[in-house]
Amino acid sequence: MRTKKIGVLALQGSVEEHLHTLSQIEAAEGFPVRTKEELSRAEAIILPGGESTTLRKLLREFELEDPLRRRITDGMPVWGTCAGMILLAREVEGGESTLSVMDISVRRNAYGRQSDSFSAEAVIPEVSPSDPLRLVFIRAPWVERVWGDAHILCEVGGHIAAVRQHNMLATSFHPELTNSTA
Ligand code: GLN
Repeated sequence: MRTKKIGVLALQGSVEEHLHTLSQIEAAEGFPVRTKEELSRAEAIILPGGESTTLRKLLREFELEDPLRRRITDGMPVWGTCAGMILLAREVEGGESTLSVMDISVRRNAYGRQSDSFSAEAVIPEVSPSDPLRLVFIRAPWVERVWGDAHILCEVGGHIAAVRQHNMLATSFHPELTNSTA
């Protein structure tokens, strides 16, 4: 089986956890992305959770912001989790957008403070048709609204927690912090 080369943006945040999960998936070869060269080797990329303002600053410092946006608009599959979702959004309520590639508006820390972190279960048919997935939220954003080609995959507590738009997937929660490889 040919393995798919999946980069994990490795500037800050839950990088190791994603790389660990990828190491358990036979069809995937995960590796950290910190440079343009590493980005060019990636066939798909994960933007991890962390702190979105720090990530934005580091993306600029490492000169990755423009090349990453270009790869994504050229169709490279991308999955933004939590802070990664904020990086993808065209609109950040009361804040600055970064890559501005997904037709979503997000609210940072919307599900509450660190102490309010929680987990939930949901069936996300597009990811795992029958089994409920455990979803872990840590100072998570939610999506206020979607437009254009973005469509809602899952709502938790009446708020949008997962969105898909063509090659782009954004989730409020941290799949890398559960045992699921779905
Ligand atoms: N609260 C963080 C932010 O706004 C995101 C939290 C996370 O990625 N777990 O950037």
